[in-house]
Amino acid sequence: MSPADPMSPHVMNTYGRLPIALARGVGCRVWDTEGREYLDGLGGIAVNTLGHAHPKLVPALQEQVATLIHTSNYYHVTGQEVLAKKLTALSGLTNAFFCNSGLEANEAAIKMARKFGHDKGIANPQIVVYEHAFHGRSLATLSAGGNFKIQQGFGPLVDGFIRVPLNDIEALKRATTGNPNVVAVMFETIQGEGGIHPMRVDYLQQVRQLCDANDWLMMIDEVQCGIGRTGKWFAFEWAGIVPDVVQLAKGLGSGVPIGAVLAGTRAATIFQPGNHGTTFGGNPLAMRAGIETLTIMEDDGLLQHAAEMGTYLMGRLRTAFEGRPGVVDVRGQGLMIGMELAKPCGELLQRFLQAGLLVSITADKVVRILPPLIITHAEVDELIDKLVPVVNTFLDEQG
Ligand SMILES: *Cc1c(COP(=O)(O)O)cnc(C)c1O
Repeated sequence: MSPADPMSPHVMNTYGRLPIALARGVGCRVWDTEGREYLDGLGGIAVNTLGHAHPKLVPALQEQVATLIHTSNYYHVTGQEVLAKKLTALSGLTNAFFCNSGLEANEAAIKMARKFGHDKGIANPQIVVYEHAFHGRSLATLSAGGNFKIQQGFGPLVDGFIRVPLNDIEALKRATTGNPNVVAVMFETIQGEGGIHPMRVDYLQQVRQLCDANDWLMMIDEVQCGIGRTGKWFAFEWAGIVPDVVQLAKGLGSGVPIGAVLAGTRAATIFQPGNHGTTFGGNPLAMRAGIETLTIMEDDGLLQHAAEMGTYLMGRLRTAFEGRPGVVDVRGQGLMIGMELAKPCGELLQRFLQAGLLVSITADKVVRILPPLIITHAEVDELIDKLVPVVNTFLDEQG
């Protein structure tokens, strides 16, 4: 049992937080309540697409707050249609449902897959999910996820999931052959919390074929890797495929809570009036944040920029740690980068903080970098200058 956190004694102690509180930010820079400055290499975990206090986003949101924040899904919400039209045009899908977070997008997708099955007369529908996957912390999504630590203490888990390893098409076939209850395959194009593990392009194409051949829904959780993070709007575009369902959240609102489920023709009419809903989902403020985020990304060429900065950052990391004992791998795509070390490195978080750098550690051994997509060349240099010595010192230590 860990005691209350002295910095926030009345807040439930659920996070094991670092001992700072951030007070303000501009671009890729943030300041804590003591006035110390940090370079933001985390972007609120791939959320702050446009960094902090973006000069085009701020006035748009101010205007929206002063006009209309929330109504209800009892009525049409004009912004939902605008954002749905944009997201479907970008993705090649046809319809969108709006919610408030990543887990809600996945929860909706899971319900959709189950109803897809029931509509076909499958009473006990099952969804294929993956080892090390992360889909959120509701009961259904933590059950779909592949992290035992997250599930521990919360059983009984939700059933109806079949788990397979990544990038192994034979394992997927073995796990599903002769099982008429399979209705969908659900995965992250690049696993985020699991340690930046990408699905291979050829594997994605094979899964697409298998889904077509068996009438399964291909449901892709792009909550972390979507919305330009990899240099394309959606990471699955690198494989030239179009899924049936796409779950989005993190980067879509540049910090305003938002989630979305996109569906193509096979999935777009599964939900009928009364099947699914949310009070806050798709409210005018969140829709405005989504619309402005996408518009600013288009106007400012941020996909191209993210791809370029990602290549540059990856190159600098690989050069800095080339052949370095203790560094297992540097991987990822665009501005979604993981550096796997040979030993657990949670303690690095505090040291990065002291060096004035915000990044994260995931899957125990992986330093994860997810900066705002607006990061500049000079800021990538600064990130490298802060990160490399800290990691080198850590690797030089015994143990
Ligand atoms: C963060 C994340 C989620 C959960 O999103 P929340 O908004 O925290 O519920 C789901 N899937 C992936 C891939 C994520 O990275």
